[in-house]
Amino acid sequence: MIYDIPGAGQLEIKTIILDLNGTLSVAGTVPDGVKQRLEQLKSKGFKVLFFTGNTRNDADDLATDLGIEWKLAKNAENAEDKRDLALELEPETCASVGNGLIDLELMKAVKLRIVTLQAEGVHIQTMLNSDIVVPTINDALDLFLDEQRLVATLRK
Ligand SMILES: [Mg+2]
Repeated sequence: MIYDIPGAGQLEIKTIILDLNGTLSVAGTVPDGVKQRLEQLKSKGFKVLFFTGNTRNDADDLATDLGIEWKLAKNAENAEDKRDLALELEPETCASVGNGLIDLELMKAVKLRIVTLQAEGVHIQTMLNSDIVVPTINDALDLFLDEQRLVATLRK
């Protein structure tokens, strides 16, 4: 999807990278409405995936249920792993949605950075390196489903 942002030019987003814990999943549960939004995003042509250390060994089941891909961040404590995964995905056309300090290096590598507050909060360093702060994952996904929302927030 290509967005025309008044005062900031064109923004092309092909891939949406989601953090798992605290972002896609809140207190271990994917919020209602997420699965339907992911289906809508895929039908609009976005590639959507999540990065996780898979410490709960549940990534395969979750990805199958949600109909999206996932990639293993080998060391769940290492922010560089997430960044390196993004560097393989044309980061200049990626958006990232996250909440923790571990997402900071990933956020610095991609074009559009969104953080979610939800129940687990957002790390202040990651927030200060983001473009948009939203309350929930559904609000984050809606920014891509209703392009006028994204444009209205980013325009000058
Ligand atoms: Mg997180």
